[in-house]
Amino acid sequence: MKVGVLALQGDVREHINSLFDCGVEAVAVRRASEIQSVDALVLPGGESTTISQLSEVFGVYQLIKERIASGMPVYGSCAGMILLAEEILDAKVGQKSFGGLEIAVRRNAFGRQIDSFESDIEFADGSTDLMKAVFIRAPWVERVSDSVQILASVDSHPVAVRSKTALATSFHPELSGDDRIHRYFIEQVARPALEKVK
Ligand code: GLN
Repeated sequence: MKVGVLALQGDVREHINSLFDCGVEAVAVRRASEIQSVDALVLPGGESTTISQLSEVFGVYQLIKERIASGMPVYGSCAGMILLAEEILDAKVGQKSFGGLEIAVRRNAFGRQIDSFESDIEFADGSTDLMKAVFIRAPWVERVSDSVQILASVDSHPVAVRSKTALATSFHPELSGDDRIHRYFIEQVARPALEKVK
């Protein structure tokens, strides 16, 4: 499996390192041909408005949107979660997402209370161990459709959700040195989705 990390802005290298630790081939992608060549995509943390604007500058906005819509496995952390949301609350005027995940996400939701924090959370991957989660001006999920499963919450706000082919977290597992989320994405989301296509 070859996984691309969208490299327009944000913490690209950290995601590549986490994916390497999971034993998959991971490459930074920004051009159309590079995005076409990967089996799955990671949208990093960073600034969602900048990433979507740059995707238009690089002429890959539509391609990414279409590949996600046609079932390419995708994982978004923080800004990446916002980019996957069908609806963005507190969006910047004109802000676009790629969509693909039937959720409404509130941008900078935790940011109004406290800018950045760490929390030990329960993540529904079958393990009872708590996971250290790093939140930086993080969104939370405010609504989900029936196709979306909630995997973790903080103060009853969902912070990790998935559909059949998309995973999103409000937090940054690429910064905490714990590859559990990346492993979950590879083993529980991407691999089953790609097997089905074969
Ligand atoms: N608040 C940022 C945004 O709207 C996300 C922050 C992050 O990715 N750490 O894109």
